[in-house]
Amino acid sequence: MKKLDFLKMGFEKRLYQKKVWLLSIAAILLPSSENTMRLARLPYTIRREDGEVFFIDPDTSEKVVIEDADYHAPLFAKHEKINIDNTWYHGIEGTITTTFGIYLLNRVVFWEAVKELAPYMNHLIEAKHVSGLISKLMVDNPLPGESIPEGKASVDQCLRISTQANYLEGFNEIWVKSGSVQALTVSKEVIALRERLFKEKADQLHDPVVAADVIKQVVDADYEEQMKGDSADFFIDKKFIDNARKKMFLVFGLERDFETGEFRLIKSPLNEGWDKEHITHLINTAVSASYDRGKSTGEGGADVNDLIRLTSRMRVAEPDCCSVVGEEIVLTESTFKGWVGSYYLEGGKPKPILSSSTNLIGRPINMRVPQHCQTKDGDFCVTCCGNALGGNENGLSAEVTNIATVFMLIKMKNAHVSKVDTVRLRLEDLLE
Ligand SMILES: [Zn+2]
Repeated sequence: MKKLDFLKMGFEKRLYQKKVWLLSIAAILLPSSENTMRLARLPYTIRREDGEVFFIDPDTSEKVVIEDADYHAPLFAKHEKINIDNTWYHGIEGTITTTFGIYLLNRVVFWEAVKELAPYMNHLIEAKHVSGLISKLMVDNPLPGESIPEGKASVDQCLRISTQANYLEGFNEIWVKSGSVQALTVSKEVIALRERLFKEKADQLHDPVVAADVIKQVVDADYEEQMKGDSADFFIDKKFIDNARKKMFLVFGLERDFETGEFRLIKSPLNEGWDKEHITHLINTAVSASYDRGKSTGEGGADVNDLIRLTSRMRVAEPDCCSVVGEEIVLTESTFKGWVGSYYLEGGKPKPILSSSTNLIGRPINMRVPQHCQTKDGDFCVTCCGNALGGNENGLSAEVTNIATVFMLIKMKNAHVSKVDTVRLRLEDLLE
């Protein structure tokens, strides 16, 4: 049997719902007696013996060899390309090339939860794709005697998406290589670049703009190498490289002098030892990162608490309060998307802003906004809130509380993920 046929058969039988089966095709299991016993207990698990990769057919009890399997590699690797059609997943047109990892995610996470309602996603699947799918599908759980509208999924079905995602999460241990040579070291080329730039700009490094630019070039070179390395999948956030790796391996960075407020460049990274000349600044940075962060977290937490008390009883209580007072807003190319689903007043009547209403860009319109809502008892209406915020009767409090959370995060990032960076701003963006 060919390995692709084996994979198809396994997925048709939904064997991926057994961790042992999935482990047997995605990893090489050591030939311990315990593993052998586990593999033997479950039909169709991949086993290895004497140079052969095989499984036992439970109907005939015969050994079926996977002819094109590599004895020294897992049967399937995460990024391995496979060609599939609609016999593998509904709705696929013709034959498409995907990867084993993407196929696995589509089947195990989405298909298992909502079946035909999830179209095949043939790309890197990010949080926004998952929340996008859920917001398109989810409706309330049906009450007794009710049924779910066609093309929709209940809350319980959608929750299954996260259960299934959690199920796969454990496999990160075999699929994400956190410790690789590249991740644990820094290359000679990157260090040579750093030395060359420090030498070239030696007389300008007191200028934070020049220093930040030098650091950026070094970090970018390191980033490029990491993304080509074996741990590329491990660095899911750039801050692991431009903050954590930077301080550890590249350049400690620009730190603000607590007395003068000026920036100081601390050239050597932590793995080259504490820089005695700058010990005060190194320690101040460490203290502020832990002390300020603790303080800010407490402060932010208290704000969140206050806001919950103030807002938790607010509801979106009616479709339209019929307020004729709005706020004058000029939509721009960059802000337009955020207003889609809101309402503006035209001739005293609310009109929705659709994604096609781009003709509204550039001129003042009278927008219905929550601060002028006339709904009684301190509640709000859908029209003033817009369809997104107004779509959830009890969602206002969470939205308002989020503001304090964002402030808290900014403070925490300020202390903990500190970096000085140069950015190019467009004057038009600032004036808009
Ligand atoms: Zn209103």
